[in-house]
Amino acid sequence: MKLKKLLKMAYYFAEPYCVTNGGKFRLKDVDPGDTGELTDEDKPAAKEGLAMGVEALNEMQQMLYAQDKWAVLLIFQAMDAAGKDGAIRHVMSGVNPQGCQVYSFKTPSAEELDHDFMWRSMKALPERGRIGIFNRSYYEETLVVRVHEELLRHQKIPPQLVGKSIWDERFQDIRKMERYLSRNGVLIRKFFLHVSKKEQKKRFLERLETPEKHWKFSLGDAKERGHWDDYMSAYEDMIRNTATDHAPWYVIPADNKWYTRLIVAAAVIDGLASLDLHFPKVGPEKRAELDTARRALLAER
Ligand code: ATP
Ligand code: MG
Repeated sequence: MKLKKLLKMAYYFAEPYCVTNGGKFRLKDVDPGDTGELTDEDKPAAKEGLAMGVEALNEMQQMLYAQDKWAVLLIFQAMDAAGKDGAIRHVMSGVNPQGCQVYSFKTPSAEELDHDFMWRSMKALPERGRIGIFNRSYYEETLVVRVHEELLRHQKIPPQLVGKSIWDERFQDIRKMERYLSRNGVLIRKFFLHVSKKEQKKRFLERLETPEKHWKFSLGDAKERGHWDDYMSAYEDMIRNTATDHAPWYVIPADNKWYTRLIVAAAVIDGLASLDLHFPKVGPEKRAELDTARRALLAER
C-alpha cells in the first residue's frame, strides 16, 4: 500500500476516538467492546494492517530522527490489565530502539516526593528526534491520587496550598505545561485504553490461572477494582479538562486487544503525519563533500 493511502486509512480509523475538546465528553458514550466497522472475521486483516502500520512508523521515525526538530510524547493511561504494555510493545515493535524511550511511572519515591509532581516527568521528556512513551504519567496525579486522597497528604505540599480546587489547579497546570511543550516542538498524543470491568475480571482470572502470567498479578490491582466507579469519574473529568487540539486524548475501546492495537497505531501514524516529516535535503556544499568522498573511495587501491 502506498504511504499516502495508509495515512488516509490511519486518519479514518483513529479520528472517531479522538477527543480534542473535552467539554461535553462522557465516558459512557464509548463502548469498551466497540470494534468500529470491523468484526472478529476481520481480525487477520487487522493484524496485517497493524504490520503495515508498524512498517510505516519505522519509516517515519527515521525521518523524525534525521530531521531532529520534533519530539514525540505518547502517554498511556488505563486501568490494570487494559493492555497498555501489549499495545506499546506491538505498536513500537518495528521502531529502532535508539529512537524510542519508554518510561514506566510507579508510586513516587522519597526523592520524587521531595519535588513538585511534574519533576520526574520533566526529566524523562524525549529529546528532539525521539519518541518518548510514558507508561502512566503525571496524569496519575489526577487519578490514583484523587481516588485515594490520603496519597495527597503524603505529598509534602504545604497544607495551605491543598484546597478544594486542587484538582482544577492540577488540570490547569497540566494544560499550560502541555501547551508550552507543544510550542517547543513536542507532539503530544494521549491514550486512555478503556477496558470494561467485566473484561478486566476475565483477564485477572486468566492471570491467576496461567503460571506464566502469575507475576503480572498483584492483590493491589484487584483491590483497585473496588474503586472502579471513582476511577471512571476521575478519568472522565481528566479527559474533559485536558483534551485539547495540540494534546488530544484518544479514548480507545480496549476489550479486544487486536482492535486496541490497530487504533493506537493509526493514531500515532496520524500524529506523525501532521509533522510533514522528510529526510533533510542536502545543499550544494554537502553534495560537493559527498562527491569528494566518493572519488577518494573509488581511487583507493
Ligand atoms: P503492570 O501492567 O506491570 O502492572 P503498572 O503500570 O500497573 O504495570 P505497577 O508497578 O503495577 O505498574 O503499578 C504502578 C503503580 O504506581 C500504579 O498502581 C499507579 O497507580 C501507581 N502510581 C503511578 N504514579 C503515581 C503517583 N504519582 N502517585 C501515586 N501512585 C502512583
Ligand atoms: Mg499493575
